[in-house]
Amino acid sequence: MKKIERSPEPSIIKECRNGNFLTKEKIREVLGKDTNGCCAYCNAGNILATCPEIEHFYPKSHFPSKACKWENLFLSCSKCNWHKSAKYNGTDEHGKVGKLEHKPLKPDDSAYKFEDNFTIDIFTGKIEPKNDRAKTTIDFFDLNGEERNSARKNELELYQKTGFYVNYAFFIEEYISIMNYIKTKL
Ligand SMILES: [Zn+2]
Repeated sequence: MKKIERSPEPSIIKECRNGNFLTKEKIREVLGKDTNGCCAYCNAGNILATCPEIEHFYPKSHFPSKACKWENLFLSCSKCNWHKSAKYNGTDEHGKVGKLEHKPLKPDDSAYKFEDNFTIDIFTGKIEPKNDRAKTTIDFFDLNGEERNSARKNELELYQKTGFYVNYAFFIEEYISIMNYIKTKL
């Protein structure tokens, strides 16, 4: 999960409540600029061209006051959005306690850094957690689901064979930085 530097709130967010299709399209476009068109959570690429969804980090059914808050909206692929569904940590705005034991990591938090929380397994394509919140985050979005691991592994193989990659750019960048680190230790 790559760190996101969030753009200032766009004026269209004020229209969020009217929920019309064009407005949603525009919000997706602005969110996509901050993630390079990738899913904010699994970092799968090119989702703007396929199935982008506007994901509410704090589920709107449990946190209605955050439904149209800019900091609560992320561009997400349908898989991440579906896996996460309405799970949350803590107490919601109706006084109901969520099922998550730990608070998931939020990629636009100012203190968030990938390397403080995760590492990658360069052989399996898996993302490994370094702490409880990172583990919760992986489970939350199913970041190590079989399909995701094999997609990252395929990407890695493509990069190793050809020097190119088309998807999961962030994963490949992490791989390159690990390999560079290893080289300095040899
Ligand atoms: Zn995703």
